[in-house]
Amino acid sequence: MARYTGAVCRLCRRYGEKLYLKGDRCFGPKCAFTRRPTPPGQTSQRRRKVSDRGLQLREKQRARVFYGLLEKQFRSYYDEALRKTGVTGEILVRVLESRLDNVVYRLGLADSRAQARQLVRHGHISLNEKKTDIPSAQVKIGDQIGFTPAGAKTEYAKILQETLKSKQAPVAWLSLDLTATKGRKISEPTLEQAEAFFDPNVIVEYYSR
Ligand code: SF4
Repeated sequence: MARYTGAVCRLCRRYGEKLYLKGDRCFGPKCAFTRRPTPPGQTSQRRRKVSDRGLQLREKQRARVFYGLLEKQFRSYYDEALRKTGVTGEILVRVLESRLDNVVYRLGLADSRAQARQLVRHGHISLNEKKTDIPSAQVKIGDQIGFTPAGAKTEYAKILQETLKSKQAPVAWLSLDLTATKGRKISEPTLEQAEAFFDPNVIVEYYSR
């Protein structure tokens, strides 16, 4: 699956806020947005009036970048949310949050979604004790997420086991067994728990035009 391979810090500057795409660096003084919070490019200082449609597009783009997805993938999540019964915006956030790479990140097994995706792609992550190398795999309530036997032997996993103890507990809809470096999805994430930087209802408005 294709993915964005450009400089991710440009995306934070373009959308005018920190999107936390680079793990620990985002919280330190080296953060590009902290150092230069202006849009990239020569016309960065120019003020432009943005239409309602432009604002909706921007909201959708921020969410897409937040989860590291391309337009086609993101649109397919919207279509999936639309087909399900319930509030489309909330379902959209739920399916995005339930991606395996996002769950690995939310559990604290990776510093960023990009790193989580790489761990999954490289076959280091198991879903219900089975190696799963598909970052978009949907994690259901009760599913268990951890390292594969080979993944657990990597230097990364060994260091992580030590550092995990000092990290914050994962989000409320996930549980983490520190000794086994394994997590479980215990409920569906609510909008608040997803700590979304975007308004999913605006995204629904954007696509429903
Ligand atoms: Fe965005 Fe993180 Fe880069 Fe800062 S360091 S600009 S928050 S990706």
